[in-house]
Amino acid sequence: MKEIDSMIMRISVCPRCGQTYHGRPAVSRADGSTQLCPDCGTREALESIGVGGDEQEQILEAIHRCYGRHGQS
Ligand SMILES: [Zn+2]
Repeated sequence: MKEIDSMIMRISVCPRCGQTYHGRPAVSRADGSTQLCPDCGTREALESIGVGGDEQEQILEAIHRCYGRHGQS
């Protein structure tokens, strides 16, 4: 699908956490059609394997750190 290219530039609001994001959305596993921000996509994936809320946030933080968005020492 060529339209994917223009979709990538679109800003969306995540219905789960209310955060705005751009880029490729994650599709909710709950109904297979709700589009979530990448973070919530990760949260759902972790939830599905039994990872609790606190741990989910720690893992997300680690992922963000890996992508080097905040300072690099
Ligand atoms: Zn979200």
